[in-house]
Amino acid sequence: MTDAHPTPARSHERPPVYVIGGGPGGLAAAASLKAHGVRAVVLEKSDRVGASWRAHYDRLHLHTTRRLSALPGLPIPRRFGRWVSRDDVVRYLEKYAEFHDLEVVTGVEVTRVERTADGTGWHLRATGGRELTSNAVVVATGYNHTPRLPDWPGRAEFTGRLLHASEYRNPVPYAGQDVLVVGVGNTGAEIAVDLTEGGAARVRLAVRTAPHIVRRSTLGWPAQLTGILCRRLPVSLVDRLAEPLGKLSVPDLSAHGLPRPDTGLYSRVRDGSIPVQDVGLIDAVQRGKVEPVGAVASFDGDTVVLADGTRLTPDTVIAATGYRQGLENLVGHLDGALDPATGRPRTPHPLPGLYFQGYTNPISGMFREMARDADRIGRAVAKHV
Ligand SMILES: Cc1cc2nc3c(=O)[nH]c(=O)nc-3n(C[C@H](O)[C@H](O)[C@H](O)COP(=O)(O)OP(=O)(O)OC[C@H]3O[C@@H](n4cnc5c(N)ncnc54)[C@H](O)[C@@H]3O)c2cc1C
Repeated sequence: MTDAHPTPARSHERPPVYVIGGGPGGLAAAASLKAHGVRAVVLEKSDRVGASWRAHYDRLHLHTTRRLSALPGLPIPRRFGRWVSRDDVVRYLEKYAEFHDLEVVTGVEVTRVERTADGTGWHLRATGGRELTSNAVVVATGYNHTPRLPDWPGRAEFTGRLLHASEYRNPVPYAGQDVLVVGVGNTGAEIAVDLTEGGAARVRLAVRTAPHIVRRSTLGWPAQLTGILCRRLPVSLVDRLAEPLGKLSVPDLSAHGLPRPDTGLYSRVRDGSIPVQDVGLIDAVQRGKVEPVGAVASFDGDTVVLADGTRLTPDTVIAATGYRQGLENLVGHLDGALDPATGRPRTPHPLPGLYFQGYTNPISGMFREMARDADRIGRAVAKHV
């Protein structure tokens, strides 16, 4: 790994393809480019690869299997187990960059991608006044780039502690506290369980829309494999198949405040909401350790007001309310690059020489899809340059 200064191409050399972001998506793209004979330089804003994974909470494990999460050209070691821990994901990403001998330049944040004046290539502006030019660029800055904190009325005046889930590491600081976790995606569900196991006095979980909950694995069969098999089936068919299976495998938690969802599982995925993989939520809700409550409507001094009018006074509110892709400053000015409604790339390859990696959230697992997309990017860029 190199530091801070990308080596410019000598005048007779073709400039490298720049990959923005040294997470799994960017590293996989760079490895694939290399495999297709294209020199790639990864520009990473932090000081090491895998920055997002280094910052995740302590108990996190991949909920996709080791085998189905490997990036191109390097399996995840068997000793990391079936559900790979956060630290082992980081180890794997470090090893991945080393194994493929990737050129990674750390400490460089790309701030803007522009067309070159002659319209044939791309011009990158980066921190430290760096200016780089290339025929092709791969943007891989992460689906979970910028924490999203809803603009609840009264939020700024809340006198309790409010943090985004991206700041949560472990339950230690919350021992003995009354905590409200907002949002029941995979992150909110797992943090709620972590808090109960780590000594929080009371844990409530604010639920706006009842989630689909699936077992991470049933009789050894991982939910991810079902996701892969269902991926190309019609949405309505998967919705119909999932309903009775859901009822068989997940108990009805309505009496505990968590009703079954009223829209189909795959319809929800299409709307951007991945099912919650159970890593203890069902048990915690059944035992009353995690108490589902209504959605948060507003804040009032030390009080959180729920949509049904209930008023709570937790010590801490942890908002597991997702992320934005934060691509506006980087590429938002490029005509046709982003979908204005979602802020995500219109397609993975919206303009000649501009590629996006990792901006979908598929039911089949992002690592798996990024591995497959990396190969497509490698082939397309090799043809382009
Ligand atoms: C809590 C959590 C659990 C997940 N679990 C799974 C799972 O089990 N299985 C699965 O398949 N997927 C999972 N995902 C989804 C996805 O696989 C990960 O988010 C994955 O890290 C995405 O990889 P990425 O490279 O696209 O983005 P990131 O890992 O976020 O990497 C982006 C990189 O770009 C850098 N960067 C950002 N902006 C710039 C810039 N302007 N210039 C230079 N560098 C920049 C960042 O520092 C970072 O290193 C999970 C996501 C989260 C949040």
